[in-house]
Amino acid sequence: MPSYDPNNIFAKILRGELPCYKVYEDDKALAFLDIMPRAPGHTLVLPKAPARNILDVSPDDFAHVARVAQKIAQAAMTAFDADGITIQQFNEGAGGQVVFHLHVHVIPRKSGVAMKPPASEKEKPEVLAAQAKKLAAAIAAR
Ligand code: AMP
Repeated sequence: MPSYDPNNIFAKILRGELPCYKVYEDDKALAFLDIMPRAPGHTLVLPKAPARNILDVSPDDFAHVARVAQKIAQAAMTAFDADGITIQQFNEGAGGQVVFHLHVHVIPRKSGVAMKPPASEKEKPEVLAAQAKKLAAAIAAR
């Protein structure tokens, strides 16, 4: 497996070198909206520690990311009036991974509404900003 590249786009977001639509942060994890959402409220949860994917992440960091993903899923059910949640997590190119800093996708779903294809359409900044605010408030209220 290739080694961790500290110049991947999510590493730059974690260092504050690039912006994101943040919904949650603690000492070990950061969560922000996917800018090309497969459904409204599509969120990515990352460990702060460098890890390429499930193959090299520490078990404790992965467990913490799972805890944060659950918190976000629960909040997203109300914030986006969802009927369900899809969780996705890809590992290496062959596994569908495009950005090589571990992340878990939390995707709110509505009954009968298909997800958009991956990276098919960039959402408007004002829509993402409003959604991030709403989801962050729902997470903080839990
Ligand atoms: P994957 O590595 O296959 O899980 O896909 C990476 C995901 O990151 C895709 O869903 C992209 O839409 C998303 N993405 C790429 N760049 C950014 C960014 N700057 N901010 C938020 N999401 C991003």
